[in-house]
Amino acid sequence: MTSRILVMSGDGVGPEICREAVRVLDALVSDHGLDVELDEALVGGAAYDAEGDPLPPTSLAAAREADAVLFGAIGGPQWDGLPRASRPESGLLRLRSELDLFANLRPAMLYPQLAHASALKPAMVSALDIMIVRELTGGIYFGKPAGNGVNEAGRREAWNTMRYDEDEIVRIGRRAFEIARARNGRLCSVDKANVLDVSQLWRDVMTELAAEYPDVELTHMYVDNAAMQLVRAPKQFDTVVTGNLFGDILSDAAAMLTGSIGMLPSAALNATGRGMYEPVHGSAPDIAGQGVANPLAAILSVAMMLRYSLNRGDLADRVEHAVGQALDRGLRTRDIMDDETQIASTQEMGGAIVDMLR
Ligand code: NAD
Repeated sequence: MTSRILVMSGDGVGPEICREAVRVLDALVSDHGLDVELDEALVGGAAYDAEGDPLPPTSLAAAREADAVLFGAIGGPQWDGLPRASRPESGLLRLRSELDLFANLRPAMLYPQLAHASALKPAMVSALDIMIVRELTGGIYFGKPAGNGVNEAGRREAWNTMRYDEDEIVRIGRRAFEIARARNGRLCSVDKANVLDVSQLWRDVMTELAAEYPDVELTHMYVDNAAMQLVRAPKQFDTVVTGNLFGDILSDAAAMLTGSIGMLPSAALNATGRGMYEPVHGSAPDIAGQGVANPLAAILSVAMMLRYSLNRGDLADRVEHAVGQALDRGLRTRDIMDDETQIASTQEMGGAIVDMLR
């Protein structure tokens, strides 16, 4: 059956990198039997400029109908002064919540060819491959009550609530167990159960779920220790599952172990496996329009889309392998350059991946 992919390239370098990702999809269609139909829709500042709304109703409707969304990046200084609801970022947040994308998959992987880019010693991070599964639509970012006011003593105060119900934990837990099963069969659940009731529930539910996945080894770790272990010995982790707040912080820390933001893809999935796939980086206004942006995060996002929404893990492997081959040949965009490598433009890097796939 033909899968529908919506390309929302957005602002800044978004259109440049999405163009290369689409070339990769086209090559998979023409040479490897991938059966997809592509469509495009406006989002972010580009949508605001055209239609006065960072997520116009037509774009949202198209995203709802798609099997997967390939998202570039949004934002830029020209839109920073707008009221919050009109800003590009609001379009992205609304899209995530309207599509009920509760599972955020953030791989932190480092091709051995780029081990020098990390702030850690190459031996500690070379071939690093961690998958952080973060709950994205619950927890303290959404818990009620939340607000601020003035207390009886006349001092300003503010409050948020970290709340999960067991169904929310079960659905992210299942997703994480399944991902761990398809990887190396090790899942580490991160919480703060020594202090927080909500974390104790998280831990209890994860432990109960483990009975359904006897082939996955479940361990638990407190979040403060997890932060320490991530920089001390990151290769001990395979798949990590955690709540919204802890995942927000740990996934950024893990991403930075790799030192190359232009290489990192991500996915956000809903209950039916539909998802949105996007590079971790933003719209990089400082380099937009210069043809120097690294398209590999967007191209690796296509690989995640193939694996998690289109059921084509075989093609995902091919794309990831092609990226490794391009790096082996010494091709580098400016952000991942070193002395012995050959500088490639956005388009040259995309073209190299397409050539490898053929
Ligand atoms: P950024 O990720 O856009 O850029 C940070 C640095 O990384 C910059 O020096 C940039 O040149 C570099 N960089 C980013 N992507 C690169 C690539 N593909 N190749 C080479 N270098 C790359 O973060 P920022 O500067 O903090 O934010 C810029 C804009 O992006 C802001 O408007 C912000 O709100 C937005 N943003 C959007 C998203 C998103 O769309 N999901 C995420 C983060 C930031």
